[in-house]
This record gives sequence, structure tokens and C-alpha cells, in this order.
Amino acid sequence: MDYFVDVIIPIPLEKLFTYSITRAEASILKPGVRVAVPFGKSKIYTGVIHHIHNNKPLVYEAKDIYQILDQDPIANSIQLKHWNWISKYYMCTLGDVMRAALPSPFILESETIITKSENQNINDEELKDDEFLIYEALQNQASLKINDVISILEKKNVLPVIQSLIEKNIIWVEEEIYEKYKPKLVRYIKLHSNFSSDKELELLFDSLKNAPKQHQVILTLFSISAQTKKPIKVSELIKQSSASSSILKALIDKGILEEFYIKTDRVQYSGNETENLKTLNKFQSKALNEITLTFKKQDVTLLHGITSSGKTEIYVKLIEEVIKQGKQVLYLLPEIALTTQLVSRLQNYFGKKVAVFHSKYSSHERVEVWNNVLHNSDKAQIVLGARSSIFLPFNNLGLIVVDEEHEQSYKQFDPAPRYHARDTAIVLAKLHEAKVLLGSATPSLESYYNAKQNKYGFVEITKRYNDILLPEMELVDLKEKRKRKLLQGHFSDRLVEEITEALKGGHQIILFQNRRGFSPIVECITCGHSPQCPNCDVSLTFHQYKNQLRCHYCGYHTVMHQNCEACGSVELDTKGFGTEQVEDEVKTLFPDCTVARMDLDTTRGKYGYEKIITAFEQQEIDILVGTQMLTKGLDFNNVKLVGVMNADNMLNFPDFRALERSFQLILQVAGRAGRLDKRGKVLIQTYNPYHKILQQVSTNDYVAMYNEQMDERYNYKYPPIYKLIKITLKHKDYNKVNIASSWLTKSLRQVFHDFVLGPEFPPVSRIRNQYHKNILIKIPQKQSLKKTKEAIIKINNSFFSIKDFRAVKVILNVDNF
Ligand code: ADP
Ligand code: ZN
Ligand code: ZN
Repeated sequence: MDYFVDVIIPIPLEKLFTYSITRAEASILKPGVRVAVPFGKSKIYTGVIHHIHNNKPLVYEAKDIYQILDQDPIANSIQLKHWNWISKYYMCTLGDVMRAALPSPFILESETIITKSENQNINDEELKDDEFLIYEALQNQASLKINDVISILEKKNVLPVIQSLIEKNIIWVEEEIYEKYKPKLVRYIKLHSNFSSDKELELLFDSLKNAPKQHQVILTLFSISAQTKKPIKVSELIKQSSASSSILKALIDKGILEEFYIKTDRVQYSGNETENLKTLNKFQSKALNEITLTFKKQDVTLLHGITSSGKTEIYVKLIEEVIKQGKQVLYLLPEIALTTQLVSRLQNYFGKKVAVFHSKYSSHERVEVWNNVLHNSDKAQIVLGARSSIFLPFNNLGLIVVDEEHEQSYKQFDPAPRYHARDTAIVLAKLHEAKVLLGSATPSLESYYNAKQNKYGFVEITKRYNDILLPEMELVDLKEKRKRKLLQGHFSDRLVEEITEALKGGHQIILFQNRRGFSPIVECITCGHSPQCPNCDVSLTFHQYKNQLRCHYCGYHTVMHQNCEACGSVELDTKGFGTEQVEDEVKTLFPDCTVARMDLDTTRGKYGYEKIITAFEQQEIDILVGTQMLTKGLDFNNVKLVGVMNADNMLNFPDFRALERSFQLILQVAGRAGRLDKRGKVLIQTYNPYHKILQQVSTNDYVAMYNEQMDERYNYKYPPIYKLIKITLKHKDYNKVNIASSWLTKSLRQVFHDFVLGPEFPPVSRIRNQYHKNILIKIPQKQSLKKTKEAIIKINNSFFSIKDFRAVKVILNVDNF
């Protein structure tokens, strides 16, 4: 009998590829084991075994595998099932899923680029001969490709050598940014609480009569705190009192002064001891009980709890239960920005059991987490991660928490698989017979609808922790303010007043503007021309800080023009505004305060977010300006005021979800205000103060928003009532996209009739020199999704059988785009 393996190769092939193996190999190989295989004329790929069988392929001669790369599977059977589901549901190939799922060092191939790691402590005597040769080659060359390694070692089977070098942290694959970051510890100082009454103070000054230097320090401390309400830094006190640090130390030793750190929990975590869990208040306990009850009947429960109601502490209790049973927990977060705060919160409770997994981690770190999860190690019982962590090799998952489940960044847009991490997590949990808790203050219509249909369990918390009221919301009418000349730049008099007051009280402020850069449109006053991206149909955004014009679609950039390109005029005007401009105006309006900006431009690098978030937590920054990045679940306790600079560009966005998203975004950013002890305030500047969404936001009326939006979704046949599949055609030739999309639409109409919309050019119809055109297919609830997809694939295949269309790219996108 002949033996064969079907192998998943990390490239978009419709079918699995079959290779021939020996009988001996067949007896040791298992699905999930990696093999190195030849492909095409000269390529080598790492493939994952899907299954082993005896059926000779009919149309081609099966080649032999080059080599077996693992003793034990690196992906388990649940994962392979999960990959299959993803590929079917999101209409992509298993190769696409594999490439997204495995850390890149696992899928070495001829194109892989190898570089030297920054590991300094390499003992070359411990290297095997082959390993040494590669190590040596990398001393002289910045990088090597697999084929270079093949010629250096003069043999074909090089992947195990490379694998071993990766494991020894001697080489890395791809370029990686790798920086180490430790938040700077800022020391603050205050008078010890023993001296709070006048009488005690009097005694204190008496006792210092014979210590004039110490006396002087205390006086200086008083004078600084009279000027500022902010915590006083040790360095500041030393500077202003000209005291030496030994004098300060003497005062601390005597118990007169007291040192402290802000947010000490983060910095104190030493990796060993853990804190006790917080005791839940009655609302939290009730919610926890209800969740436990719903889990008896249902696999998924939605927790709708207003911002700062203490949802995280409830997750923590559930996690504790699950890990006690020896099971694994996956805690999904929409953005890396959030992990910074959460890692320390979870580590405080669970210590080393918490592992973090996201795209800014080096491949080495990712492999480490992968292996820890695979081996069910103690170090990865709780995985905190962004969407790609649903691909980790869990073997004993008990619970998945999907925090901020409404976030659109759970959906991957490009490349395939275009999966939604929340929905994919629910399927993963089912395979493990695990439970899923979805949490949000502003649930997606989809999840809320599923809860109402009893598909999910539903639990609510309507009180903030500590009984803090939700922030007071005020809508500021920009039209009115403009008419009465009460605008300074983009700041209304009300916003300026509130900022001034918050600063006076020593509080912090968040200003939200949903666009980065300085201004999205530059326009010539004389001829009306505005600079466009040469590759995309979109205006270039002015970035003042770098004096550049940048395209936010393709990254194209050029220096800002002095003159109009069209008519030469020097009168260039800017329209619209982004975070840079807000930052600029803050500097002019409030020259004495510290302002920082958090957007895509300031958070590059592995610790980009962490630096800003830490500085803000430590109150080094008074005003933080940012995009939606700062709306997501961040927990700062000194923020009193949140300003939404302009609500209108969100509301007017051409998308059927625009209103739902505006509601979520504004309520989320509002939720950053007044979290710990004082009620916060939110100012929303808008030209449409009577817009129904803004009214619903300002009364925190989720249910009104839900009902109204659901009516629209019924009427216009949108999700969650209908399912949607979007088909995008791309090609650099405008006519070709037009003809191809008309053909495709016509064929689809023959099957789906009126449920096909388009073809239509999106608002930005050319990106990176490719024209885009969209077709939308609406799928009623009664219609089989499986059959619909089969029909689409069939039509797609006939489309590609037309020679003229073969170069057109067709992208299928299922749900949530
Ligand atoms: P949410 O996730 O609902 O926005 P958090 O879990 O972040 O809310 O809680 C808001 C704040 O209240 C946090 O600073 C948290 O530490 C604090 N908090 C919540 N629950 C408790 C509790 N039971 N005991 C003490 N502090 C709590
Ligand atoms: Zn001009
Ligand atoms: Zn562009």
C-alpha cells in the first residue's frame, strides 16, 4: 500500500497538496506535525499535515516530503478543526489561515529572511558545526535567505538547523523591532499624614527649630503645594529648596515626610507575590451570580455593564474559578493599547500565570508563548491577547473573555483570513466546550440582538463602582459659538472654561479627535486645487510636525508645498483638523500645561503606547489629545474632563454602522472621565446638537439607540437582521474593474436577485493605484449561508475562467466590514 499526506502550505491554494511518504513515516506522522516540502520548481515550504491516507492523487505525481520537522504536533486536532471552520466561514484557503495562525519562525520557507538576534551572550562553542557556519555567515552579512543557507551548508534539509538557532535565540526571522522598556519611576513626596492638624504642625515646626535646613525644606514644600494642586516630585522639592537628598532622607526617616509613587501597583509588581482579589460590591456580586447561572444553560453570555462598573473585577473572579480547575483562559482585547494597563492588573492577581500575546511582540517571544500554551504550562494559564491569540494551541480552554466586544478592530480586514475574533472565539470555545463572556458598556447590535433572541445569556450592571455618577454630558453648539465669535481655533469658550477649571483643580483632561495629522485637506485659496495622493483617490493630510503631506491609505508622503502646484499661489488654506492641530492649539491656549498626543503617529514601536499611558498615569501629562485609541477601556483615575472636539465627522461617515459606532465611540471616551472618586464632565462639540445619536449619548440611553438603529436595519435589510458578504474587485485598469464587476453582479443577480447591491465605487475608489469596486450580497435569515457561499464560489470560478478577468483581484469579506 502507498502512503500519502495532505499538507497545508501557507499560500492561498484552493486544495491541499498531497505528498508521498514511506510506510515507516506513516506510522509516526500525525496531523499537526510540520514537514518541509518541495513546491513548484525550486521552492521549499513548511507545511502542516492535515491528514494521512492511501489515495494516490489523480492529476499529479506526488513528490516526497523533504523532512519531518516535529516529533509531536505543534497544532492540535481542535485547532485543525477550527482552521477548517475559519476557512469555510470566511471563504479563504486553509493556507491563508495557517499563515495567520502560526508564528513566522514556524513556517520557514524559501523566502524567509534570517537576521542575527541581538542576544549578546552567545557561546559559539556550544553550537553544532552547521549552526556555527550560519552564525559565522551572519557576522559578515546582515541577513540570509533560506537558499543562501542551503548553499552555505551544501545540503537541502536546512530547516531544522534554522529552527534550532531560533530556539537558542541566536537568529531571528524577519526584521524585528526589539526594545526594552521599563517605565521610569517618578518619586513623589508629601507631608506625613500624622501632621494634618494645625496643632501637630505647630509641634513639628517647634521640633525643627534646631534643624534649619530641614525646616527650610518643609517651608518649600508648603509653598509649592500652595501654587499647584498636583503631587510634588522629589526632584522638584530638591530643586526648589536646594536641599541635599540626605536632608530629605532624614526627614523621611523621621516620619515627617512620606514618599509615594502614583500607580504603584504596576511598578511594584516584582513577579512573585500576588494581591488578593478585590471584594465585589453588591452589583458586581449579583452580576457574577447571574453569569454563573446563565453559563449553566448557555455557552455565551453578554455582560452589559456601563463604563467603570467594574466589569474587569468580575472577569477576574471568573478567571480564578476556571484556573482553579486547571483550565486555560483566553482574555481577548481589541487593541494592544489596552494590554499595558491590563497586564499589570492581572499580574497583580495571578502573577506569572499571565502571558501576553500580540503583534508587537518579537517572533521569539511569540514562539515562547505558543510553546507554553501548547504544553499547558503554568506560565500561560491565562493568555491576554489581541485578536490573533485565538490561534494559540489551547488544549484545555475553560473560558474566553471578550472585552469591549463591540470593537471593530476585532475584525481583520487584510489579508485573509478576514475573521472576526469575537465570533471566531465563540466557535473555538464550542470546540473546547468552554464558556464565553462578552463584555461591553456599549454592546454591538449583533450581540445585543443575540442576547434578546436568547441565543446568548444576558447580564446587566447599571451602577458605576463606588457609586460614582456617570459623567455629566454637555453638548456645545458650534454653529452658535461660531456666530457669536466664541471659538478660539477649534475650542469653544465652554471647553476653554472647563479645561481651565480642571487644570486649576490639578486634574487631567482627555481631548478626542477622530483624525490624526494636522488637517486632512490643503486647499489653494486662488484656484481651489488641493494636493492629492498620486496612488489613491484621496486628498493628502498635512502633518505639520514633520512638515509633510501624507496619504493615510498608502503611506505616500512628500514635503509640504510652499506654493500651489497648480497655479503657484502662496495662499494655501487648510481645512478640517486632526490631533496635531488640537495639540498645537492646546499649546497656545494653555502654555503652562503639558500636552501629549496619542495616535498612530506617536505610538509606533513596541512600547509606543506604554510610554504615553505611563506618563499620563503618573500625571506627567496634563492634557492628552488622541484618536479613538484612547477610547478603549483605559482606566485613569485623575481624569476629570473629556472633550470631544467634533462629533460630526463620525456621524456623517458613509456607512450603515456609522451611527452605532458614533454612539459607542463617544460613550466610551466619555467613560474615561471621573472613574475613581469624583464625577467627571464631558463636553461634546458639534454642529448638530439635536442629532438623535448625540441626544441618546447624552442621556446614556443604549436601549433607545438600539431600538432605533434596529428599525433602520430591518427597513434597509442590514445586519444583524441580514447577513452580508462584500465582494471587492481590484485592478489598476479602471475599465477592467467596471466590466468585470458588471459581469459578476449580473451573474450573482441571476441567483440572488434583488439581494445583490452594486457594483459601486467606495468613497475612496483608488488605493495604491488599484481601482476598487464593491458588490454587496444580503442574505436573509432563512437562506442557507452554506448554500449561498457555495453559489458565490461557483460564480467566482466561472468568473476566473474568463481570460480577461484573471488578473482582477476578487476579495470576499464575510460579516462586519
Ligand atoms: P470597567 O471594566 O467596567 O470599565 P473597571 O473594572 O476598570 O471597570 O473598574 C473601574 C475602577 O473601579 C477600577 O479602577 C477598579 O480598580 C475599581 N474597582 C472596580 N471594582 C472594584 C472593587 N470591587 N473593589 C475595589 N475597586 C474596584
Ligand atoms: Zn492654486
Ligand atoms: Zn495614497
